[in-house]
Amino acid sequence: MTVSLTATLDELIRDVPDYPSPGILFKDITPLLADHDAFTATVQALAEVGRDSAGTTVVDKVLGMEARGFILAAPVALALGAGFVPVRKAGKLPRETHAVSYALEYGEATLELHRDAVAPGERVLLVDDVLATGGTIAATRELVEKCGGTVAGVAVLMELAALPGREAVGALPVTALLTV
Ligand code: AMP
Repeated sequence: MTVSLTATLDELIRDVPDYPSPGILFKDITPLLADHDAFTATVQALAEVGRDSAGTTVVDKVLGMEARGFILAAPVALALGAGFVPVRKAGKLPRETHAVSYALEYGEATLELHRDAVAPGERVLLVDDVLATGGTIAATRELVEKCGGTVAGVAVLMELAALPGREAVGALPVTALLTV
């Protein structure tokens, strides 16, 4: 019997209440990453978002957001035959960057991208574990556009349906393997 990927994700992504702060239901993907078959199936499903209906890769780069996005985006990039690019928190990238700040529930966060990480005209796929308010994806889109690139798609493991993530990312096509 084949177990569906949705059921596997449901089983291997654990809810951790009140982490890292009271009221947050943290989605812990580490059991999924530790399961070879489940991790492989997840990477393959995320990579599909970067292909057309004929199976041809349609993106030049795959961007992963610090930190869990790195773990997912790097193997997706390899599966697609595309380059991997890290989007990092402020002050972590060593060369000249573009920076975009965005509001968090409390305070502000800044994401950075090396200015030459995406070439003008390149098409990119954004990969992350969770789409919550959409602030991370919206800020990353701005970074890509500052470089002259285009976000061709967004692939996330999980979308939190109670939050307005899709609204925040506007017209970007978002594929979520699981909606909770
Ligand atoms: P947002 O910018 O609000 O869409 O939040 C997405 C980013 O925050 C992703 O990089 C996630 O890793 C992280 N995140 C937000 N909410 C959660 C959650 N409930 N569990 C785990 N990670 C989360």
